[in-house]
This record gives sequence, structure tokens and C-alpha cells, in this order.
Amino acid sequence: MSDLVEKKIIIAIDGYSSCGKSTVAREIARKLNYLFIDSGAMYRAVTLSFIRSGLVLDGEVDRPALKEQLRRIHISFQTNQETRHNDIFLNGENVEQEIRQLAVAQKVSQVAAIAEVRQFLVAQQQEMGQSKGIVMDGRDIGTVVFPGAELKIFMTAEAPIRAQRRFEEMKAKKEPVNFEEILQNITDRDRVDETRTESPLRKAADAVVLDNSHMTREEQFIWILDKVKKIVTDED
Ligand code: C5P
Repeated sequence: MSDLVEKKIIIAIDGYSSCGKSTVAREIARKLNYLFIDSGAMYRAVTLSFIRSGLVLDGEVDRPALKEQLRRIHISFQTNQETRHNDIFLNGENVEQEIRQLAVAQKVSQVAAIAEVRQFLVAQQQEMGQSKGIVMDGRDIGTVVFPGAELKIFMTAEAPIRAQRRFEEMKAKKEPVNFEEILQNITDRDRVDETRTESPLRKAADAVVLDNSHMTREEQFIWILDKVKKIVTDED
């Protein structure tokens, strides 16, 4: 694997909500010694900031106030020494846990459909990928953020399977959960993400599809690593 460590590429992983994109992306990044960025966390952090300021209320978004608020938002990542995860910080505050709550999940797709929010975050994401050696997951990474990425993966899985995984995850964290509510949230987010005007969720023409409905984490990891190896070898 030493050749893989030497040669830096960009790996873009897009797909539906709760497919396990971040989990496998993080593992791949660790293996290759790449930077891992969960772009969804950035949209969630912005959403949290808007919720806290009362800018997102029952389907309504205060656009002018929101633009003003964006100027005051600073997002950064820092490795958590305990979990070794790249935790997200909103103006210096670790919000990694808070952004995963259903209250944020229920508003995030609405916020992510706003052009100004996307411009604000895409610019930062592109900056992070300047020296390559990055795995980024999201909805528009292969289509908008890094259209020239050497490896583009489009992940999908059956919705009830995704909801069940998310349900188990939240239950393990002792968060109050309801399976139907989670399934509803997942399908709602898919619909909003796919039908929005701004950078809708799409498979890039040159992306490879990974349906992980019946795959283990280990199988997905090997599948992706195999694709990375092929790209690096072909280019050599
Ligand atoms: O990946 P995650 O499910 O945490 O993303 C939360 C939401 O952020 C998505 O449902 C989507 O609306 C939005 N998102 C996006 N573009 C990205 C990443 C996430 O629109 N690149």
C-alpha cells in the first residue's frame, strides 16, 4: 500500500441519506492517510446556527437575516483525541453531537437548498481539497465540489435498511428514537435533495455505484480500496 500513500488523489463519495458514506469514507481516509471531510456535517452546523438564532421556523427561512448570519459563521474540524474522529466546530464550539439530533436533521435539507449556503460551503470544501489526498462525502462532491475527482462513488441502499441502521445507531447512543420517524426523515431528505434546483443529488456520469444494502462495512471498504488501487496503478 505504500504507493497508495504516496500518490494523492481526490475521492468523492456521494449518495442518499444514512447510507454509511461517512463511516466508510473515514475508514478509507485513515487507511490512505488522507484528510476526511464530512460535508454533511458542515450543512448541519450551518443549520444548527440558524436554528439557534431562530432563522428557520416551520418551513420558513428568513433569507436576508440568514445571509447576514453566514458572515458570522466559522466552521472548522479538529481531531478528537478520544474517538480519533474529525469533530466539527461552529465558531470554536464542538457541535459534533448536537448536529446529529433529529431537530437538525429535520431542517438541514431545507437549509442546504439555499444557494448562498451552498456557495459559502462549497468554496471552503474546494479549498480543503487543493492539495488532494482527501476523501469527502456528501451529495454534490463528484458533480459540483470536485468534478475532476479521480474516484467518484455513488452510494445507495434500500430506505428501510438505511432507517434500521440509523435506528440502531441512535438507540446505542441512548437517543430517543422512533423507527417510523427516522424512515420518514430519510425519505423526506432524499426527496428534497434530489429535487432542489441548487446542486441536486445526482450520480455524476463517471461515478461508480455502490449499493451496500447487503454488504458489510468490511466488504464496502475492500470494494472502494480496490477501486483506488486500480486508479493509482493505471496512472503509473
Ligand atoms: O450527509 P448528511 O446526511 O449528514 O447530510 C445532511 C444534509 O445536508 C443532507 O440531507 C443534504 O440535505 C445536505 N447536504 C448537501 N450537500 C452535501 C452534503 C450534505 O446538500 N454535500
